[in-house]
Amino acid sequence: MTQQVQEKVLVKRDFYHLIINGEKVESSNGETFQTINPATGEVVATVAKASQEDAERAVQAARQAFDFGKWKQYPVNRRAQVLHKIAAIMRSRFNEIVELEMLDTGKSIGTAQGQVNQAIEDFEFYAGAIVGHRGAVNNMPGQFHNYTEKEPVGVCAQIVPWNYPLMMAAWKIAPAIAVGCSVIVKPASLTPLTAIVLGEICLEAGVPAGVVNIIPGSGKDVGNYLVEHQQVDKVAFTGSTPVGKGIMEKASQTLKRVTLELGGKSPNLVFEDADIDAAVDGSLYGIFYNSGQSCEARSRLYVHKDIYDEFLEKFVAKTKAIKLGDPFDKGTHMGAIIDQDQLNTIDGYVKSAVEEGATILTGGKVAAVEGFENGFWYEPTIITDVTQSMKVVREEIFGPVVVVMPFSDEKEAIRLANDSEFGLGSAVWSKDGARATRVANQIQAGIVMVNCPFSAMPGTPFGGYKQSGFGRELCIETLDLYTETKSIISYYGSRPLNPLGV
Ligand code: NAD
Ligand code: MN
Repeated sequence: MTQQVQEKVLVKRDFYHLIINGEKVESSNGETFQTINPATGEVVATVAKASQEDAERAVQAARQAFDFGKWKQYPVNRRAQVLHKIAAIMRSRFNEIVELEMLDTGKSIGTAQGQVNQAIEDFEFYAGAIVGHRGAVNNMPGQFHNYTEKEPVGVCAQIVPWNYPLMMAAWKIAPAIAVGCSVIVKPASLTPLTAIVLGEICLEAGVPAGVVNIIPGSGKDVGNYLVEHQQVDKVAFTGSTPVGKGIMEKASQTLKRVTLELGGKSPNLVFEDADIDAAVDGSLYGIFYNSGQSCEARSRLYVHKDIYDEFLEKFVAKTKAIKLGDPFDKGTHMGAIIDQDQLNTIDGYVKSAVEEGATILTGGKVAAVEGFENGFWYEPTIITDVTQSMKVVREEIFGPVVVVMPFSDEKEAIRLANDSEFGLGSAVWSKDGARATRVANQIQAGIVMVNCPFSAMPGTPFGGYKQSGFGRELCIETLDLYTETKSIISYYGSRPLNPLGV
């Protein structure tokens, strides 16, 4: 067993600073907060807590760097080199960053490794993508010439959630600085540590002062301050749908560019012609990965009635085999829940399901994990006998809880899948390629996984339909969302034009 436990490499730091204008600083008023390891309930570190004054300094630093600095003037290859260097430093500190992410979130080691690896690849992806990002020459009548330039949009506020702290920071920082923007990142207060380290790495790699600022602090206070700020040009937000709606409303006052990656309640359709074992494993991963704390968690599982019993028997057996325990043990399948509030929320949803007449097939309660009694843990939970109107079917739970329902045919499956205010992820399991394509085309969601458990890799567009938000991250088109298109029209005729005829 002990062989399985990852050797710890992190040099413990007790204090983490804000990063403003290329410097590690304490907050203006000296305020701090503590971050907790959700697996153990222990304090991990103390963190400087940004005030509005700090947010203002960050905006001015970002403004200065953008308006008068050299970053956006660099040849694109030079910016690409810096992004590659960020990735290289992250890679050289891989185990340390993984460990820090685990301590801050209570994630299991395999989960954290995958996410840190992806964050590194995101920088590599945008280092490559930016070189090919450019304007166009448009067809014009003779003697007119028109070309477009892609200009960086300016100063970007980037507000991220706690479920994938480093990966979300990478999704935001990499494309923004690739195009020449300056950023102010507001990590989630529950998980600020790896974003701070990423900010330090950006400086070390040669990102000039003021281009990347990291200011952990309260969302309502400094997050909102950035959203309302006159001199912030864009806000990129990942988080819950209600907070996203408020941000869009406030951003309208200054007509900021807005992209929103919000909540989900993603459907997972298993057809009678599916490879049942692959569908079981993919569905298991789809909901229990990251302890279900995923915006794209496949939390509504619809199974064809002919295979419902067989599928469910295998699905329940494997769910019962999911191992909770020491996140550093490679044999642990599922880590902790982020905090007590989230644990209460999850349990509240499960209780509501029981009250509404549903059946708990397995799980359904706070988990007792030996050696981790002060952490926050929830049993992997399967709920059946549900209807579309129940709270557990309609609302995002953000925990290891899946609802399962049978369906009779393709048409019904599509209707059930689309019966949601959200539209982020979705999955289809079928060996019939024509059917899978037909169904994929009719699902109202930004992402459809066909016989595939994974929703996001560098290069694949990630984002939602409906109330899951808008804008796509992790892909080439993200670069467009951090740029303005400028159209330059010129006349090259030999005779001067006099269009008014005066
Ligand atoms: P949250 O909305 O509570 O917080 C997200 C961030 O916004 C945090 O940094 C928070 O401090 C900040 N914030 C809170 N109130 C604010 C305000 N009034 N103004 C400005 N900023 C404010 O979400 P969370 O609980 O951290 O994360 C979970 C949610 O995130 C889930 O709904 C999940 O689906 C969603 N999520 C979506 C995606 C996606 O890509 N679509 C990815 C991960 C998480
Ligand atoms: Mn934490």
